[in-house]
Amino acid sequence: MSARVLIVDDIDVNVRLLEAKLAHEYYIVLTAFDGLSGLARARSEQPDVILLDAMMPGLDGFETCRRLKEDPLTRHIPVIMVTALTERENRLRGLEVGADDFLTKPVDDHQLFARLRSLTRHKLLVDELLQREAQGRAWGIFEAPASRDSGTGARVLIVDDHDRNCDRISRALAAEHLPFSLSEVENLGSAAGASLEIVIVSLSMRMLDPLKLIASLRGKDNSKFLPILVITDEGDTDRARRALDLGASDIITRPVDLEELAARVRTLVKRKRFLSALRARLDQGFELAVTDQLTGLHNRRYMINRVRSFLQRAVMGGETHALALFDLDHFKSINDRFGHDIGDLVLQVFARTMAGNIRPSDLLARIGGEEFVLLMPHTGLAEASEIAGRLRRIFAETPIILPRGGTRFMATVSIGVSVNLPGEETEQDLLKRADLALYQAKARGRNCVMVYEAPAAPPAPFLAGLAAELAAGLAEELTPGGAQSLSA
Ligand SMILES: [Mg+2]
Repeated sequence: MSARVLIVDDIDVNVRLLEAKLAHEYYIVLTAFDGLSGLARARSEQPDVILLDAMMPGLDGFETCRRLKEDPLTRHIPVIMVTALTERENRLRGLEVGADDFLTKPVDDHQLFARLRSLTRHKLLVDELLQREAQGRAWGIFEAPASRDSGTGARVLIVDDHDRNCDRISRALAAEHLPFSLSEVENLGSAAGASLEIVIVSLSMRMLDPLKLIASLRGKDNSKFLPILVITDEGDTDRARRALDLGASDIITRPVDLEELAARVRTLVKRKRFLSALRARLDQGFELAVTDQLTGLHNRRYMINRVRSFLQRAVMGGETHALALFDLDHFKSINDRFGHDIGDLVLQVFARTMAGNIRPSDLLARIGGEEFVLLMPHTGLAEASEIAGRLRRIFAETPIILPRGGTRFMATVSIGVSVNLPGEETEQDLLKRADLALYQAKARGRNCVMVYEAPAAPPAPFLAGLAAELAAGLAEELTPGGAQSLSA
């Protein structure tokens, strides 16, 4: 997996050395020689990972990192702090200012590439989600970017068969999290798994194969995005690398520095919550993308897709599905007379009234200004026209009550009904036929239901004129208000 890596270091030789190593592994390398130009490059070039030297004159690595993590344009880019100092104060300081990881000089190649792989993987996921979120914001679906979380109060599962180690970690994390061990999982039941936010796995376990555990967590739907922090013995670099390759999120080496552990757990929990929040917002975005904002009904896009998928299945199974097209009567004059607020109110009353009176299996959508569609799966023409007739009546009897003064008035709706023809795969003709029937309903004086009936077989030419005459004659006898037939 290649990625664009920005190296920020004040010593030219260090930069060249890292650059050569990374280029050899086909990473694309960008460079900067001080904190300020590092910030500028990060903003303009949007690298996938930043390797940041801690000790630099002027703006040092810690301050640079803090600013990177404050800037909405760069805060999602993982930062690896590189320091010549092995003192824990510097490591902790790095994690406190938001560094995602750190390496000590001289940089070990295996560790460098393992961490780059792990962070690049995370970054790709975030990029994908952020891109979709940005699109959602451009469409006005989202109002503000997802916020970041404190990273405390997490349910932490500790998997270690060494009881004393397990206790020590558990006690250290208890101050800000809810740690529990594998032996407590049975008591906690499925609740533990459902709200679990991070797993800590000891690589020195004998009870079960920790690498297998990591692979199996990554393979399951409900844990594939769960952060996994691996605890490894010093010198066990080979297995540590394999753990990272299998999808472990981070590694800490024994003897475990409890403060460093706490800082790493916090970083991982924050990352997980950031991703979860992004995903939840996307789900909500999709919900909004298929919903009509004014009425809360489904919108045209959603309805068209649903109708199409029913029709495609009907081609195989030969089922009949009915569709009713509704158009509010005299809607323009309602708007002209009472204003658009009241027009909107009428649409909302209509939507609410219909939604409260349709069958659970039927699907209602607003597909245009005052146009609605009711999809009635597995329903024949006779039944569909009966349902449409009932809905028409209910709406005609529902008063619209004006907000000020409580004045009320009545509104009505015209409805055209049609069903799919054998072999019909797209919604266009079905909608067109419903529209023809609706047009007839309008022409007949509104507040009525008309049904489009396809002829059983094409009439012979000399019968066609007769059929038209019959239809015209029939139409004259019918009164508005009932469900009527309209011939092709
Ligand atoms: Mg330096």
